[in-house]
Amino acid sequence: VIRAVLFDLDDTLYPQAEWLAGAWRAVAAAAPDTVDRDALLAALVDIAAEGSDRGRIVDRALDRVGHPQADVAPMVNAFRSHAPARLEPYPGAVEALTALGRLVPLGVVTDGDVDVQQAKLDALGITGLFAAVVISDRFGREHRKPAPRPFLAALHEMQVPAAHAVFIGDRPDKDVVGAVAVGMRAVRVLTGEYATVTSGPTPWRVVPGVREAVDALLRDPDLAQPASPSLGEIR
Ligand SMILES: [Mg+2]
Repeated sequence: VIRAVLFDLDDTLYPQAEWLAGAWRAVAAAAPDTVDRDALLAALVDIAAEGSDRGRIVDRALDRVGHPQADVAPMVNAFRSHAPARLEPYPGAVEALTALGRLVPLGVVTDGDVDVQQAKLDALGITGLFAAVVISDRFGREHRKPAPRPFLAALHEMQVPAAHAVFIGDRPDKDVVGAVAVGMRAVRVLTGEYATVTSGPTPWRVVPGVREAVDALLRDPDLAQPASPSLGEIR
């Protein structure tokens, strides 16, 4: 029986590219006056597109525009403190999660800087949908997915054993591997930059996006149904 459903955030509930575009603009705006900010922005976007494990992107972009000595601190700070007022979830995601959340508790397990990830949830307007939100960096970067700790922390907070939980995420190497390793059923969504990756373990289900993932769960006879209302609640 499925008693809880947990979600990844970036590229599962909303397109991460939307957030990154704003973040790179904020980084470029924080560059020193001597730097060509348009060229820096183009370099940031270009280098980031090479892959999402974004080590030293700011340094590499500064290098490319001929300012390897520039102080990166204000730019890194601009990235970390980027907090857009509004981000758009994937179409239908909020409606789907709202319907599912009436039946079972929902959770989020996401990697990244705690303030950055919380700002994304706030901008998406979805924090209230979740019974548990675990941002793995609160335990330290070494506990990022597929490490078991953030998955187990969310399950513990929700008081649901892994065998009764489903995890929905976009990354085979983090979401599917990590969820399966702790004993959850993993649903892979084919959204974001990992959509075309063919390697990785076989998930329980593969679906085009989060709306389809939730719709399939809503039709699943294994999904826990809420207890019938007591007589006193029936008018
Ligand atoms: Mg993701």
